[in-house]
Amino acid sequence: MNRARLLIFNAALGPLDYRVPEGMRVQPGSVVLAPLGPRQIIGIVWEAERLPTQEVPDSRLRPLQGALPVPPLKLELRRLIEWTADYYCAPLASVARMVLASGGALRGPATVTEYRLTDRMPERMTPQRAAAIDALQGEQATIRELSEIASVSEGVLRGLVNQGILEPVEVDCDRPYIRPRPDFLQPELNDSQREAAETFSSAVRDGGFNPFLLDGVTGSGKTEVYFEAMAEALKRGRQVLVLLPEIALTEAFLRRFEDRFGAPPVLWHSSLKSTERRRAWRAIASGDAHVVVGARSALFLPYDNLGLIVVDEAHEVSFKQDEGVRYNARDVAVMRARFEKIPVVLASATPALESLQMAESGIYTKVDLADRFGGAQLPSIETLDLRVHPPQRGHWLAPPLVEAMQERLEKGEQSLLFLNRRGYAPLTLCRHCGFRFQCPNCTAWLVEHRLSSRLSCHHCGHEVAPPDTCPECGTADCLVACGPGVERIADEVTERFPEARVAMATSDTLNSPEKVADFVARAEGRAIDVIVGTQLVTKGFHFPELTLVGVVDADLGLEGGDLRAAERTYQQIAQVAGRAGRGSKPGEVLIQTRHPEAAVIAALAAGDRDAFYEAEAEARRDAGAPPFGRWAAIIVSSEDEAEARDAARTIGGTAPHLPDVMILGPAPAPMALLRGRYRYRLLINARRSAELQKIIRDWLGGLNFPQGVRVGIDIDPYSFV
Ligand code: ADP
Ligand code: ZN
Repeated sequence: MNRARLLIFNAALGPLDYRVPEGMRVQPGSVVLAPLGPRQIIGIVWEAERLPTQEVPDSRLRPLQGALPVPPLKLELRRLIEWTADYYCAPLASVARMVLASGGALRGPATVTEYRLTDRMPERMTPQRAAAIDALQGEQATIRELSEIASVSEGVLRGLVNQGILEPVEVDCDRPYIRPRPDFLQPELNDSQREAAETFSSAVRDGGFNPFLLDGVTGSGKTEVYFEAMAEALKRGRQVLVLLPEIALTEAFLRRFEDRFGAPPVLWHSSLKSTERRRAWRAIASGDAHVVVGARSALFLPYDNLGLIVVDEAHEVSFKQDEGVRYNARDVAVMRARFEKIPVVLASATPALESLQMAESGIYTKVDLADRFGGAQLPSIETLDLRVHPPQRGHWLAPPLVEAMQERLEKGEQSLLFLNRRGYAPLTLCRHCGFRFQCPNCTAWLVEHRLSSRLSCHHCGHEVAPPDTCPECGTADCLVACGPGVERIADEVTERFPEARVAMATSDTLNSPEKVADFVARAEGRAIDVIVGTQLVTKGFHFPELTLVGVVDADLGLEGGDLRAAERTYQQIAQVAGRAGRGSKPGEVLIQTRHPEAAVIAALAAGDRDAFYEAEAEARRDAGAPPFGRWAAIIVSSEDEAEARDAARTIGGTAPHLPDVMILGPAPAPMALLRGRYRYRLLINARRSAELQKIIRDWLGGLNFPQGVRVGIDIDPYSFV
């Protein structure tokens, strides 16, 4: 009798056993079809001894229905799935689902029908049709995708197909990618770059788990250096994965990659079309995708022969996923490299304290690039005390910053103003009665966006048009905007310098690869004088004429008291400062603050990174915070306030009393209401010696809650809202 135990994609069901029919061959990792009641489900064959379930007698087993035409998941990946589920207290099924991230790919090679516009026009033009045709210029995709792009029903599009306005195109899902060429355009490296590149390349040649922290100042050529390690992997026929923190950065990366390797890499991110996703997935699994550049989800794909992982801007918070499986891609990348027995490079100019600590304790090898490439100097950094240099009433830029901008405009150089706040103003209130516009679904003010004339919630997307009268007291023309967002700063720049060409760079304005490319081209072509941007512009961009960076409000990130606030502020300001003076002209950075004496601001101004990290390490050591101690959060939520509160109390009431563990809460979360769900939090602070995950599993495992209650576990949390 031949049995197979399956990991299936329904976390609630758990693993199930099946009979392998005569003539069918499966092995651990095989992706198979199996019956479940009247349905057919997909499962992964797993080592039975690693996946406990209730024993079912042979006679009651149902037979598998067939194997899917994809390579079996390799041992290394199966162990990574297990480790991730175990470490982050997540269901195995949820982790496995991230691996099989393309339903289409599992069905094997195929063609799909996509549609594109012809040059015919409909006989009867309706406004809907006109809008659709307008929106679909230059697009080619399936009907479903086109209907999303054009925001019209599939029916409307089918009508256009029938009239020959849209024509079908058969697309081969598995057409091969062009192979990048390791020697296409090799740069001349300077001495320290060459030394670093050689360290990585020999690690790639030798194989074996080998984690590196590439710690190099902004503009030192970290990218050029890890490109050499990638070239080495390519020469050996091994695949390379590069993780980037944001899709907005991929555009600049792609260009550099193509210049260096003569072909584009394979992209992986959440907004890929289903055909692209399927093509990438299959090429990754077969080994025909040589270099994959992606967001954190690219980490769980079934690479055939991975030889190197690079995590660029490894300190970035966006590597932490805060929904579903709450994992940190930076840390899982290191674990993947460990299972695959390959090198991994974490690159950053401002590494996380956790990463520096790993280097200090000898677990990671630290590789330094201390100087900018080509003799460019790091910018000079000064603080501007807003109490000494107050901006004019209703304005936000202090006089010395305005003067410095004036100078740049006269010399034809560029300035960048950084404020990490989208929209026009973070709060709108009624001058007459004090009414404040709040989101009905979240504990949050509505943010005014003047460009789109909307008041919107940045947490759930709720939007309203700003009313003419106060909804509370009915007074007309009484609403005032409080505080600045980037739109308001851009307005101030235009008011002060009417001749200046101002560009805003936020996720609202740069929301597609085309718009990013256009922005970069205009900035490089000196068609922009002043850039006003959020954290989107703090990294990756290289504009040689940019010589002034103004930080509008350095204190913003320090509010809120989250564990990593100081570190995040340091990183953000150091990164944005790193945009100044990257060419031949020296850069200047002015930091507006009310607390020039705060440790993080003082360290930035003194250019004393070590002082900052030492102070930060000491503070964290005292608090038992990572990397010296460990944190975990439990987030309880429900649409019903009382239900959430009761569940949180039940959890709090059954908390274990252990010497190495301190449990805080439950308390209403700072975001007590988020997307219509009421939230409570507990925070666990444990010594490193404690078996944190086991403690949490034992604690929560025996508890039962009403259906509407969700209990999320966040190991090594980054968000405390
Ligand atoms: P980082 O990632 O450390 O900020 P980059 O790799 O972006 O640095 O390099 C900064 C700039 O210097 C880029 O424009 C890059 O092309 C250029 N550069 C760095 N090293 C070299 C080199 N060896 N030869 C030519 N250009 C280089
Ligand atoms: Zn909201």
